[in-house]
Amino acid sequence: MIEFGGLVAVVTGGASGIGAAIADRLHEGGAQVAVLDLNPDGAHPEHFAVAANVADDASVQAAIAAVAEKFGRIDIVVNNAGVGAVGTVADNDDDEWHRVFDINVVGMARVTRAALPHLRLSPSAAIVNTSSVAATAGLPQRALYTATKGAVLSLTRAMAADHLREGIRVNCVNPGTADTPWVARLLDSADDPAAERAALDARQPHGRLVAASEVADAVAYLASPLSGSTTGTSIAVDGGMQNL
Ligand code: NAD
Repeated sequence: MIEFGGLVAVVTGGASGIGAAIADRLHEGGAQVAVLDLNPDGAHPEHFAVAANVADDASVQAAIAAVAEKFGRIDIVVNNAGVGAVGTVADNDDDEWHRVFDINVVGMARVTRAALPHLRLSPSAAIVNTSSVAATAGLPQRALYTATKGAVLSLTRAMAADHLREGIRVNCVNPGTADTPWVARLLDSADDPAAERAALDARQPHGRLVAASEVADAVAYLASPLSGSTTGTSIAVDGGMQNL
């Protein structure tokens, strides 16, 4: 168990899937966790749930102010909220490109910008961003989504360089296809969800979907002093998909 006693963590998109597993994992380690989500009612009851839209600057600023007022500090920020997009470059119009970039990439900048004054005061400040295996493996029919997650890798390195001297580490995780409500929604839309699920499992290098808790364990490492000499890098939690 990695210890986070006395620390305060913000997890965006923490009301579902990977974000919920991260929030639970940090809380188990002793952190007080604030979940910033479009759907705060989905947050687990032990977390401080705040309604927030990472695509709206005023909403993000109000949410971070509410966390700071409640706990008096912010030590860890997990920029995890994100949405999908299916298709080639021919399939998504400009509005969709702007919408998805605004959530998946600009959202991370917004939340980080609002939280930075608090992180600068923390003796163990860490930011962890959720990218994707899409950024490293080049999955078909995911041009827009892949572009946003590639941007997250680059943004992570840039933020790490910018805030190194302030003692704020910035890393990211690249999950493979993970067992979350997001993937369940995709499977449910198939003609035969059970068969589709079996096929999806079989396409993974290790024969199964990644568990959200496995991503959360990597995030916990990157958010903790155990990774005190690690910044600007990423951990793949993809069963080896990026190597195929
Ligand atoms: P999910 O849909 O289960 O959960 C996403 C959460 O983010 C939801 O609670 C949703 O309300 C919230 N959210 C969405 N837009 C938001 C916004 N604008 N502001 C605030 N909250 C918002 O998804 P998940 O599968 O847990 O994915 C979480 C992250 O992991 C995403 O960034 C996704 O790109 C990434 N990821 C997922 C997978 C996968 O296979 N599930 C793989 C690689 C990366």
